[in-house]
Amino acid sequence: MIPSVLPTYNRAPLSFVKGEGSWLIEADGRRFLDLASGIAVNVLGHAHPDLVAALTEQAGKLWHVSNLYQIPQQQALADRLVEATFADTVFFTNSGTESCELAVKMARKYWYDKGQPERVEIIGFEGAFHGRSSAGIAAAGGEKLTKGFAPLLPGFVHVPWDDRAALEAAIDETTAAVIVEPVQGEGGIRPMEDADLKALRALCDAQGILLILDEVQCGMGRTGRLFAHEWAGIVPDIMMVAKGIGGGFPLGAVLASEEAASGMTAGTHGSTYGGNPLACAVGAKVMEIVADPAFLDQVRARAGAMRQKLEGLVAAHPDVFEGVRGSGLMLGLKCRAANTDVLAAGYDNAVVAVPAADNVLRILPPLNISDEEIAEAVERLDRAAAQVAASGA
Ligand SMILES: *Cc1c(COP(=O)(O)O)cnc(C)c1O
Repeated sequence: MIPSVLPTYNRAPLSFVKGEGSWLIEADGRRFLDLASGIAVNVLGHAHPDLVAALTEQAGKLWHVSNLYQIPQQQALADRLVEATFADTVFFTNSGTESCELAVKMARKYWYDKGQPERVEIIGFEGAFHGRSSAGIAAAGGEKLTKGFAPLLPGFVHVPWDDRAALEAAIDETTAAVIVEPVQGEGGIRPMEDADLKALRALCDAQGILLILDEVQCGMGRTGRLFAHEWAGIVPDIMMVAKGIGGGFPLGAVLASEEAASGMTAGTHGSTYGGNPLACAVGAKVMEIVADPAFLDQVRARAGAMRQKLEGLVAAHPDVFEGVRGSGLMLGLKCRAANTDVLAAGYDNAVVAVPAADNVLRILPPLNISDEEIAEAVERLDRAAAQVAASGA
């Protein structure tokens, strides 16, 4: 008999009833260190007092009004995002995949309005993840996402992750845009080299095509800069955001330059819930905290400590781990043992992380995790690794 909840998830036998900062607590009181943050969602951990206050204060006033009216909380968050980034304008969504939908529509509408309606193709990269909507799975293209869901949305082509020649060859007079995660998340924590991002930007400029960055997972301070592309010193034309921007409250956004957004006039896009007062009140507080240069300095310092400890962990368990990769607090333990076995042993030792493709275990802690919690988390991972090594022997 089919479960009452549609069985599309592989759920762990864990059930948390409370969260406090970097800790998740089960009904029996067992406390887990959270190296997952949802999946890069709870950037300020659980039950951050400022976020709780922002949410409850707004909850007592007004939850929802239609986008038929002015929404001051939405305006305030958009102003903050425009001030802090390349963007001139922002549309609010409720999720990453909705941000992908708009990014694709915006790119195609741009060319339609420029009198080049044949420019519809969007070039993506193998191993990508852009969400589970029809545009999201077509943009990513991987068989795990698309199999059985044909006919797929047309107008997407895919090139290998680090093959500049293949990328150049894929561009023609039907190309509208390139879409890429500066650091692939689901694909196994694969950062695109700064030099490659620079080259990609130059290529888009030379060909006059739009660059869409998917910073749903790597954005909002995760790499130690507000957005990951800042490390490469480039800017996109369109950027997808979600996950961390709501700190755990459902919120997403598409940020764009005035030029790239020029086709999106009144009536061309909309959302019932996107940009509602509750989500935007929380989002503004998240931005206030995370965009602070002192906070980002601290993320980089904690990231350095985490990375150093993880390198030590890998060195201590060469039969379990192969290496550490990633950027900031978006780290991946490339495993030799099955990443799912390491994850399960982590659960036994009360630490949670997230599996990814390429046999990687993702380490995505809250950005405000303390040095003591980092040390404790890596000790727990150490015990988990010892358990995996012993069971394999
Ligand atoms: C999670 C994710 C998405 C999809 O976000 P949802 O909110 O689950 O729809 C898109 N792109 C990237 C890079 C992601 O990590």
